[in-house]
Amino acid sequence: MAHVPEALIDLIVEHGRMTVAGDHDGLIADFLPDRVGQLLTSATVPADLVRAQLVSTEAGPDGEVVAVTKYTDVRGESVELRACWVPFGGSWRVTRVRNIPETRPWMNEYGPSPDGVDQEHWAGLANGELRLQRCGDCTEWIWAPRPMCPHCRSLNTTWETVDPAGRIYSWTRTWQNFSPETAGHLPYVVVLVELAQAGNSRVLGVLEDTDGREVRIGMSVQGKIDTPPPGTTGSPLVRWHVAEGEWQ
Ligand SMILES: [Zn+2]
Repeated sequence: MAHVPEALIDLIVEHGRMTVAGDHDGLIADFLPDRVGQLLTSATVPADLVRAQLVSTEAGPDGEVVAVTKYTDVRGESVELRACWVPFGGSWRVTRVRNIPETRPWMNEYGPSPDGVDQEHWAGLANGELRLQRCGDCTEWIWAPRPMCPHCRSLNTTWETVDPAGRIYSWTRTWQNFSPETAGHLPYVVVLVELAQAGNSRVLGVLEDTDGREVRIGMSVQGKIDTPPPGTTGSPLVRWHVAEGEWQ
């Protein structure tokens, strides 16, 4: 294993001390300049920290050093952060940081719309199924849900369970913190998934395990229905995963 320089270990320990002290300017000075905005929201620690402890450092083959630091708050509860440091201007800077284990964004405002037109979709997710709307007369798929078929204007719409397997039609990596719930989860990738089994209907969702990976249009993806974490009021949703062998 490659050697981790003593000077870097000192820097990482000092970074932990500044985090505990709430030294915002000191922390930012350790971040890669073009990564500051993301790094401020890609991990979270409690506000009332009392101790930082360097747990491990590991040098990678490409000059990066991954450091795990344990932060403990006044109640004695602790969180661990994994930070990746890279050489920069004769010293080192942080390029990535994440909580361990990595958590996912969860928006509490997800759920049935007030008019109830998508009620069956959310009921399906609660039951572990992806349900899409379909016309009972012309049999065309309808997405997003609406009271009337846009193809034949029939009001006779039904719902069918669809295998959550498709291809990436489009995607974007979100670096900005658009809502309080996404703090500590950036960046994340939002995908528009085309479902061949449902008339190429396109559904939106979050793609998992994308840090440092190149997402491509056309990749095969599989959806898994995820239930809300404890303490949130959100509804279940579909998380998308790139199929085995598709990453390059
Ligand atoms: Zn129709």
